[in-house]
Amino acid sequence: MKPAIFMDRDGTLSHEVGYVNHLSRFRLYPWSVEAVRLANAGGFLAVVVTNQAGVARGYYPESLVHEIHAQMRSDMEKGGARLDGIYVCLHHPSVGEPPYRQDCGCRKPRPGLLRQAEADLQVDLRRSWMVGDRPNDMEVAWNAGARAALVRSGYGLGELQHHAGGWPRQPDMVADHLLEAVHKIVAGAADEAAASAAGALR
Ligand SMILES: [Mg+2]
Ligand SMILES: [Zn+2]
Repeated sequence: MKPAIFMDRDGTLSHEVGYVNHLSRFRLYPWSVEAVRLANAGGFLAVVVTNQAGVARGYYPESLVHEIHAQMRSDMEKGGARLDGIYVCLHHPSVGEPPYRQDCGCRKPRPGLLRQAEADLQVDLRRSWMVGDRPNDMEVAWNAGARAALVRSGYGLGELQHHAGGWPRQPDMVADHLLEAVHKIVAGAADEAAASAAGALR
């Protein structure tokens, strides 16, 4: 069982530009390859978890989502970074046509995608984190028993400034961007391991 760092896509790994309805609109943030490399080196699985309801809405075909993710994988590999999984919800509960129109269990904040990764990759959810720029990214973490980091990229800064005061539960971590979040997560895991080793010696 390994811990994972689950990462939201738009606004976390890549620029938040609204619907990415063409490959040319997809751009990773400059720190994203290094963030994934650091997660790899820190002993975490690196897993992307994204809602792409633009497919259900008919804004772009499912094939474009796969094309974008192939590009993202290849950009990562060129930089020596490995994505262990990419999990996508293409659904919307009330818009579009079946099979994309459905009240699925995988649309964040429901935990279906994290549960799927747990089964496929033997993820230890309790030692895992989800990093994202919106409240549903935090809720999906908690719904799966993981911890939640909110980044200030994408919608994050505005969410913190205008809405966080009213949230019933605050994020377990706030970071400027994905790379800072991964740094803190990896360092925290090392501290926890050292503390439990010290405890075992006592
Ligand atoms: Mg996002
Ligand atoms: Zn879904």
